[in-house]
Amino acid sequence: MRRARESGRLAVPRDRVLFFGNTRPGQVVVNTTRVTGCSGLRGDHLSEAMKIALRQVWNLYEFMRDELPGFTRARVARIADHIGVRETRRLIGRFVLDERDLLGNARFEDAVAKGAFPLDIHSPADSSLTTELIGGAGHYDIPLRCLLSKEIENITVVGKCFSVTHRGFSSTRVMPTCMAVGHAGGVAAALAARTRRDFQDIVPAIRDTLRAQNAIILDEDVVVETL
Ligand SMILES: Cc1cc2nc3c(=O)[nH]c(=O)nc-3n(C[C@H](O)[C@H](O)[C@H](O)COP(=O)(O)OP(=O)(O)OC[C@H]3O[C@@H](n4cnc5c(N)ncnc54)[C@H](O)[C@@H]3O)c2cc1C
Repeated sequence: MRRARESGRLAVPRDRVLFFGNTRPGQVVVNTTRVTGCSGLRGDHLSEAMKIALRQVWNLYEFMRDELPGFTRARVARIADHIGVRETRRLIGRFVLDERDLLGNARFEDAVAKGAFPLDIHSPADSSLTTELIGGAGHYDIPLRCLLSKEIENITVVGKCFSVTHRGFSSTRVMPTCMAVGHAGGVAAALAARTRRDFQDIVPAIRDTLRAQNAIILDEDVVVETL
C-alpha cells in the first residue's frame, strides 16, 4: 500500500486497508476511504468530500483487485449513500467523560452503560491511526450524567453525541457502545416521563430496568468470551 501511494497509483490517505466479513458469504465491507481536513458541519465541505470519497472507492477497488490475493475477480456490490462523518459536536453534560476515566477503568454509581473499545484516533490531518487498549479490567463505566444536559432538564443525549472528550470519544463512538448508551437514554426518558421525576432521582430504577433488559452495567454482567 505504501508503494502504491508513493508511486501515485493509490490516492487514499490511509496507512492500511481495513475490511470486515459480513452476513453474506464471500462479501466484505471495506472501511478504508478517508477524506481529511473537512468539516462535517459545512454543506460545501460534505459535497466536496463525497466527490473525493467516490473517486477513492474506485481507486481502492482497482488497487485491491490487482494487488490483494482473493480480490482478483472482486466486484463492488454497494457504495454508502452518504459520506460518514466521524466526529462533530457533542453535548457538554453534567459530567464529561475523559480518557483518564476510560484508561483507569472508572466506576460510577450512576453507570448506565459500559465501553471497552480501545482509544482509536483517526488523524483528521494525515494517514495515521493510533490505538491504545483499555487495560486493567478492559472496560469502563458511562454514567447517566454524561447523557444529561446542564440546562435542559427533560432530554437525554445518546449515541455519539453524549458528553465525552475528543480522546474519550475515540473509544465511545463505536456502534455497540452507542447502542448501549441509546438503550440507557431511552429507558431513562421513559421512566422519567412515567414517574414525572428528575432523572437523577430515579437512577436505581433506571439501572434495575436496564439490567432486567440484559444491559451490561455491573462488572458481574460482563461475560468474557475467549475465541
Ligand atoms: C467512516 C466511519 C467509519 C466507522 N467505522 C466504525 C466501525 O468500523 N465500527 C464501529 O463500531 N463504529 C464505526 N464508526 C462509528 C459509528 O458508526 C458511529 O459513531 C455510530 O454509528 C453513531 O451512532 P449514532 O446512533 O449516534 O448516530 P448515527 O448512526 O449517525 O444515527 C443517527 C441517525 O439519525 C438520523 N437523523 C439525523 N438527523 C435527523 C433528523 N433531523 N430527523 C430524523 N432522523 C435524523 C440519521 O439519518 C441517522 O440515521 C465509524 C464511523 C465513520 C464515520
